[in-house]
Amino acid sequence: MLWRLFSFAVCQGLAAGAGWYLALDGDEWLGSLAMALVGGYVWLSFDAVRGARLLRWLRKGETDSVALGSGLWGEVSDRIRRLVRAHDRLAVESEGRLQDFLAALQASPNGVVLLDSQGRIEWFNQTAATHFGFDARRDMLQHFGNLVRDPGFAAYWGARDFRHDVVMPGRNNSSSKPVKLSVHLHSYGEGRSLLLSRDITAVEQAEAMRRDFVANVSHEIRTPLTVLAGFVETLQSLPLNDEERQRYLGLMSQQAQRMQTLVTDLLMLSRLEGSPLPPTQEWISVGTLMAQCQQDAHDLSSVLWTCPQDMGFAVEGECEVSGSSTELLSAMSNLVGNAIRYTPADKTIRVSWKAMPEGGARFSVQDTGPGIAPEHIARLTERFYRVDRSRSRDTGGTGLGLAIVKHVAQRHGAELGITSTPGKGSIFSITFPAQRIRRHRVALA
Ligand code: ADP
Repeated sequence: MLWRLFSFAVCQGLAAGAGWYLALDGDEWLGSLAMALVGGYVWLSFDAVRGARLLRWLRKGETDSVALGSGLWGEVSDRIRRLVRAHDRLAVESEGRLQDFLAALQASPNGVVLLDSQGRIEWFNQTAATHFGFDARRDMLQHFGNLVRDPGFAAYWGARDFRHDVVMPGRNNSSSKPVKLSVHLHSYGEGRSLLLSRDITAVEQAEAMRRDFVANVSHEIRTPLTVLAGFVETLQSLPLNDEERQRYLGLMSQQAQRMQTLVTDLLMLSRLEGSPLPPTQEWISVGTLMAQCQQDAHDLSSVLWTCPQDMGFAVEGECEVSGSSTELLSAMSNLVGNAIRYTPADKTIRVSWKAMPEGGARFSVQDTGPGIAPEHIARLTERFYRVDRSRSRDTGGTGLGLAIVKHVAQRHGAELGITSTPGKGSIFSITFPAQRIRRHRVALA
């Protein structure tokens, strides 16, 4: 500031000096005064030009090119430039933070939609786009209620009670492939809303399966229990002779056995689901497994059939399999047991273990029994799914056998295969991968 006053005074002083000199022999004082005014005017004009340059640069936003050197305007331009740079840095940082925030919302496994106070879409992530079929260019600033027309959601939106979520069908929902979404709105800011959507199809399916499972188990247990209770009542209330008593006790024992088998199978399934995967370093001789399986088969066949069934067991390529012997024996016996139970005595059953060329091995059970219609095949491994309900029950089936086999196969990295022709017979097989098979027994040290 002092410099400005000084330069203004110097400018006027020089001009006054020049006026004095030019007015020699005239009125020197008047000349000096006039020239001092002119000098002041020139200084102010020059100053105004610099101020105007700064203003023009500011108006154009070209703050970087502002270069007014020293002096008041130089300092003002310099400070403005620094302020603008600091502001730009802040804006870049804020933009970065916003982008990070949006990237985090993009990465969310849930759908996220930001709605303004009118319910118009301001932003949504890719998951929400998939859930509702939104297009970023087409649907931005559209009213959410116009794009999602589910009546359940419309009622939820209308009631404006967002304490709970609403479940609605997702995009591409169909009766064969249901898609369920849970949608929850949360208010924030001034009338704005955050909408969260979650695909709950798998959760709903698991819940439906759990309900079905409980209903099936209850039903399976109630039937023998009712029969047992009936016999107990008969034994208590009727005067029976020894022969009748023995017959009733035999029937009661059958029902108790049925419940026991069911509970054993249920426990086996829950063990398979909850226990760690079978070991890969424990090797079991296939010959031993097959011998045990053959023994169980003969025991079962002699209980179920009066005349012996035509059964054959063969092992092509003695080897060892790694895993759990209890689980493997249970799976193999289940398949052989099914063949025995569903194949009439005059038909044949062939059980084999074959080494595969690529290093794996296949256990298969082939029968010439009634076979299974194609529409049932995909569902056979579902719990309690039976094609022939009465035949299954009469022969002590629980409807859980193939579910157990499938689990055991999966846990050993193997695959359960089913091929069947109605009237001709069926082939059930478990194919083990090469990693689970060892051709030659390692000699123990
Ligand atoms: P179950 O205890 O009823 O035998 P599974 O899960 O072992 O239950 O088998 C499911 C259904 O598959 C059986 O109820 C039966 O209808 C059918 N099934 C299984 N094995 C055979 C087979 N070898 N021949 C014909 N049907 C079979």
